[in-house]
Amino acid sequence: MKLARFHQGDAPRIGLVDEATGRVFDTDPAFDDMVALIQGGASALAGIMPKGEGFPLDAVTLEAPIPRPARNVFCVGKNYHEHAHEFAKSGFEAGAVAGAEIDTHPAVFTKPASCVVGPYADVDLHAGVTDSVDYEVELTLVIGKKGRDIRRENALEHVWGYTIVNDVTARDRQRRHKQWFLGKALDTFCPMGPWIATSDEVDPENLTIRSWVNDEPRQNANTKDLIFDIPSLIETLSAGMTLVPGDLIATGTPAGVGIGMKPPRFLKKGDVVRMSITGLGSLSNRFV
Ligand code: MG
Repeated sequence: MKLARFHQGDAPRIGLVDEATGRVFDTDPAFDDMVALIQGGASALAGIMPKGEGFPLDAVTLEAPIPRPARNVFCVGKNYHEHAHEFAKSGFEAGAVAGAEIDTHPAVFTKPASCVVGPYADVDLHAGVTDSVDYEVELTLVIGKKGRDIRRENALEHVWGYTIVNDVTARDRQRRHKQWFLGKALDTFCPMGPWIATSDEVDPENLTIRSWVNDEPRQNANTKDLIFDIPSLIETLSAGMTLVPGDLIATGTPAGVGIGMKPPRFLKKGDVVRMSITGLGSLSNRFV
């Protein structure tokens, strides 16, 4: 199933997406909160039916599927080989050491829930705060089953579904402040969506992951190239820390971001960043 949060100027609610016909349907029973549906587990999902005639996807407003996560979005840095190398060479990685571009343990940081915006929302360039805004397309896990100290062989049982996040980054702040949080946390810096595909819909480690800036191709990779795979990320994050339904884990971005270019190419006013992952739809955000 593909589940979106949508409205038409009326109350936002959860809808079932039929990507083939480009329609979204109300559900019976109705849910207005994705996390409530996730907490209902497999039985809640099995009981959901489309209701009514539905609406064309382009006639509704899609919001982020989880517009205000209960906790920060967990993110993994440097999780594709070529991206780890382009970042180390860019001069924007504080403390980069030649020959140590690939981490032995995943680098984990977070983005605050307050920076989440919808799949087609405007993103603020924050002129005066940063002059080096960059994009990062990322496969993002949605946790469905609570757990701590989850072993890798059981990890995928805890994944409810998958969505796309643009891990928008202010590179100057990421470099200057060493800890990445300030560069990652600005308002609107986490476009998400356009829906969540439940875990039975996709093979998460064989998905084409792509991005474009103003229709110019920038990133094009496959999630099979993750350095730390999904089970190992869940094992690492849940070690001593309980993961709960609705938690989000962005798994890292492949090569092709703005800092990877010579000279770096940062986003400017009016640029439109589009991203897609197989089966998960696409994001398209104008930077203003
Ligand atoms: Mg990232």
